[in-house]
Amino acid sequence: MILMDGKAAAAGIRQELATLVRMEVARGMRAPGLAVVLVGDDPASQIYVRNKQKACAEAGIHSEAHILPRGTGQKELLHLLDTLNARTDIDGILVQLPLPVGLDAAVCTGAIAPDKDVDGFHPVNMGKLALGLPCLKPCTPAGVLRLLSIYGFNPAGKKAVVVGRSNIVGMPLALLLAQKQFNATVTICHSGTADLKRECLAADYLFLAMGRPRAIGADMIHEGCIVVDIGINRTPGGLCGDADFEAMSRKAAAMTPVPGGAGPMTIAMLLENTVFSWRQRLGLVS
Ligand code: NDP
Repeated sequence: MILMDGKAAAAGIRQELATLVRMEVARGMRAPGLAVVLVGDDPASQIYVRNKQKACAEAGIHSEAHILPRGTGQKELLHLLDTLNARTDIDGILVQLPLPVGLDAAVCTGAIAPDKDVDGFHPVNMGKLALGLPCLKPCTPAGVLRLLSIYGFNPAGKKAVVVGRSNIVGMPLALLLAQKQFNATVTICHSGTADLKRECLAADYLFLAMGRPRAIGADMIHEGCIVVDIGINRTPGGLCGDADFEAMSRKAAAMTPVPGGAGPMTIAMLLENTVFSWRQRLGLVS
């Protein structure tokens, strides 16, 4: 079984981005800028924001965290996003999800300028994604597809099953897989799927994005299946994915670990989107 090491792959991408940024800054360009907005004090979100800032620092990207107290109103948050949209030194903006109750994530995501939407969640970017047009792509789907390509796996002509249809993971991943570039035959499963086991057993590539600890067992894949486990579940025994990793690793041809698979690739894609947005703003790419 091939273990697809997202940590190592992400380190390589981050290194390349750091080199690119260093070269442009040495030529006199300003550094790329990312603004991360966090509302409230959710401990997991605080860790995610810190990790993103650390990754930015290592890549030479200026990052700033805007931390607003729980209880912040939507109007106040939208005002901050307007200010960040207007700043010429900020290339990427993201609002750390989930937002506290009372704040509408769709409204906030939609208030970010599409060309600074480095999470790729804005309706304009999602619409372009669906149409197969160039856009800032959601980081987790882009990250797992990059990981597959780094390991030489090509889903073209294969049956890909995506379990989960959220707007941030499952749905954009399915849209990408169905595009000519990836050319997979795609099935999307969700909580209304009648026979999940039957769908999973048909998969050559199985993408798990349910958020259900070890819900998919080895009896649900065929021998030689390639399993990309995106789920991150906190259990008393630590982090685990949606797959029963131990049992499945004896049957799958390749798997991603949790942690260390999709997670690090997501951060690498966030940096890549930020650097892309920066280069576009500076006129370095068309
Ligand atoms: P959501 O809760 O938004 O979506 C979960 C999806 O799984 C839904 O479409 C839901 O169906 C489906 N689902 C849930 N239970 C079942 C079931 N028993 N059978 C079939 N389908 C089911 O989660 P996200 O998409 O935001 O995240 C999914 C997982 O990925 C989480 O564990 C999250 O932590 C992780 N994640 C990892 C990231 C990374 O960087 N590695 C980044 C983002 C998320 P329905 O639509 O019918 O409710």
